[in-house]
Amino acid sequence: MPKVPSARFSVLAKEFKQDSIETHGTLIRCTLCDSGILLDEEHQRDHIKQHIFNYKHQKNKTTQANKS
Ligand SMILES: [Zn+2]
Repeated sequence: MPKVPSARFSVLAKEFKQDSIETHGTLIRCTLCDSGILLDEEHQRDHIKQHIFNYKHQKNKTTQANKS
């Protein structure tokens, strides 16, 4: 699996900021689900989008929205 350059992470984190995606430099995390998202060179956005649209994430999103 080709390594994703760390500069890409900050770009992606900014792009998906509204979806609770953030980076610590070497990996992408979802703060909503408190889980890391594995990326590869070929499918960077696809992996993030897959996470955003999965059931668990949507459920966490709803739970957080109800809290505030
Ligand atoms: Zn999530």
